[in-house]
Amino acid sequence: MKPAPFKYHAPHLLEEALSLMNQHADEAKLLAGGQSLVPAMNFRVVQPSLLIDLNHVQEMAYISEDKNALHIGAMARERQLEFNASIETRTPLLHEAVPFIAHPQIRNRGTIGGSIVNADPAAELPVLMLALDARLKAQSISGERWINAKDFFAGMFTTALEPNEILVEIELPFMSAHTGWSFMEVAPRAGDYALMGVAALVTLDENGKCTHAKLVYLNAGDGPVDAKDAAKSLEGETLSDALMESAAAMASEKEINPFGNVHTSPEFQRHLAKVLTKKALKQAIQRAGGAQ
Ligand SMILES: Cc1cc2nc3c(=O)[nH]c(=O)nc-3n(C[C@H](O)[C@H](O)[C@H](O)COP(=O)(O)OP(=O)(O)OC[C@H]3O[C@@H](n4cnc5c(N)ncnc54)[C@H](O)[C@@H]3O)c2cc1C
Repeated sequence: MKPAPFKYHAPHLLEEALSLMNQHADEAKLLAGGQSLVPAMNFRVVQPSLLIDLNHVQEMAYISEDKNALHIGAMARERQLEFNASIETRTPLLHEAVPFIAHPQIRNRGTIGGSIVNADPAAELPVLMLALDARLKAQSISGERWINAKDFFAGMFTTALEPNEILVEIELPFMSAHTGWSFMEVAPRAGDYALMGVAALVTLDENGKCTHAKLVYLNAGDGPVDAKDAAKSLEGETLSDALMESAAAMASEKEINPFGNVHTSPEFQRHLAKVLTKKALKQAIQRAGGAQ
């Protein structure tokens, strides 16, 4: 299929892109890596009359760090995230998870901003934004605002961005030294969207007690799903197998809401969530310096 006819602008400055978005918000689409937008246009699911190509906006493609956080421009490619040394040391959960996204060819083009704004419930990056307490900077010609990841994802393929706003930066606080992490998923083949996946974080104190935990799931509802009650049940405790089993049961039976698809039933997704949660918690505890 071919897309419906559209006009095309390729600004070199963010300011120009913001101005175009302001004039044409209702009919325009931003083009980042094009890995989701272009197929959707070819299927004519989306028919923008104007495409604003961000690929020449160099000022949106950085990865930097200050004292407490990483700052990632929305046009940084997924492949850039994969090989960035700051991401590997400051947010090892993100480093571990990025290679699970699609194939290298797709990661060469796909951007962090495009994936986050696309808000596919089966995508890895929205889950990681929630797990890592990211803040997302939205900009329009009227100014900028920061949105916490937990308030950004508003349902399937839907976000809190206004039509004239561009996601420009992602801020990720450094993971703390006593925090262990794990990212696990099951996909039919390497590179396919996963049937189920989980990002687990566990922080332990000097006595090995859990002070903070996080469990966030992909393909488990209409957006990334934060299993808050299961994570809370681990806090203040020394993490035994029985406790992990009960947290995994709570998350997979009560907190996630998988829909199933052509490859899987919701029941199998819940089974996968339970198995993956136990495995991911064990690995996270080990990496936090615990006994598991
Ligand atoms: C075969 C295939 C397999 C894939 N498998 C996976 C997978 O396993 N896991 C996974 O997570 N992803 C997967 N993807 C998706 C891919 O990784 C990209 O992350 C994703 O398509 C979006 O990134 P993009 O930069 O290509 O965005 P685009 O496709 O260019 O844009 C996506 C949407 O975001 C909007 N947008 C883009 N940038 C901005 C911005 N800065 N501000 C506001 N709006 C913006 C666009 O207007 C569009 O609506 C797959 C894609 C393909 C083609």
